[in-house]
Amino acid sequence: MCRSCFESFIRNGGTKTFVLTLGNRATLEFKEDASAQADAVRDWVDENWNQSFGATSQAILKTKPFEFSAAGLSDLDQETLRAEAVAEVADAMTREGFTLEDAEGRQRALAVLFGFLNRVQQEAMGIDFYVWTTQNDKRVREGHAERDDKVFRWDDPPEGGHPSEDFGCRCYARALGIEGYWERVKPSVDAFAFEAPGLEDSIDYMYLDSEDNVTVGIGTVLASADAAAALGFRNRETDNPATDEEIRAEFGLIDTMAGSEKIAAGYYREFTSLYLPQAEIDRLVVDHMRGDFDALLRVFPYFGNYPESVQIALWDMSYNLGMGGLRGKFPKFCQAIQDEDWEKAAAESHRERIADERNEFVFGLLMDAVEL
Ligand SMILES: [Zn+2]
Repeated sequence: MCRSCFESFIRNGGTKTFVLTLGNRATLEFKEDASAQADAVRDWVDENWNQSFGATSQAILKTKPFEFSAAGLSDLDQETLRAEAVAEVADAMTREGFTLEDAEGRQRALAVLFGFLNRVQQEAMGIDFYVWTTQNDKRVREGHAERDDKVFRWDDPPEGGHPSEDFGCRCYARALGIEGYWERVKPSVDAFAFEAPGLEDSIDYMYLDSEDNVTVGIGTVLASADAAAALGFRNRETDNPATDEEIRAEFGLIDTMAGSEKIAAGYYREFTSLYLPQAEIDRLVVDHMRGDFDALLRVFPYFGNYPESVQIALWDMSYNLGMGGLRGKFPKFCQAIQDEDWEKAAAESHRERIADERNEFVFGLLMDAVEL
């Protein structure tokens, strides 16, 4: 009798007086229900734990290009984790109104458990990013279809939460490491490195830049004779590969010359006998961009979601200014990019002491994105 009073109170609401009338008995009964449910969830999680834990970690480790290691998983405290998983599943049951008594409910519970394990395991492996991946069928809600194949961060949940967290969500967070992210942006890397017109002239011999650094190619600074010797220089006259001694000697010669802002790169050509093939110069540009990529992602974590023309513009700015220079000297530009306000970014992109052609190139790329 009291139980049905209580049920009707739960269903139809009630007043504070009603609750008081029910007194301790109802409260006790409610607690028993709640703890019975918690026990059921705990049992279910225990039953499914090992298999789910193994399945999610395998899925992460098998994600191309296979850059993750299970090492971080041993740091996870299994006891705490299970308690958290029980709470996650129980919360979802309360929120969405499913139970573990039917197959559909259990399937939803598994999705919640997988989603939870996927997140904590990726975080334990040091994975910051994931790619939102939908089931790609007609049941996918519009808001999640828009997120399909976009990059997200574990520490920056979008509205409604990470995949599987929102009501009935069947989406999946595919782990994204730095190498996978780099592969995603390869089209803009190639476009910048090989197709962008009128950038810094390519110089195939060693010269001193305006700051007296031995330099080659498209502004690649050679920090030491070792750095120079690691490259595939060739003899200009014979076209044979240069020897280690030849490269070191030429580096020493250029390094000891007196540079000046007024001396152009062409001045140094007659002092050199070695050249770097164009394919190596291109590779140096890409290597340089790869070196900047981590720093670029710290400022623009959603770089991979930007239109390709914006990515190319950012490559140009960072290649020219360095990430330190870009952040330090162009804070308004950086903010506009983060706000995805391409028009404002275009207006803030003008660099002094650089060819008009290159400023116009970047301005145009950003304005192209406005029209998308
Ligand atoms: Zn979804």
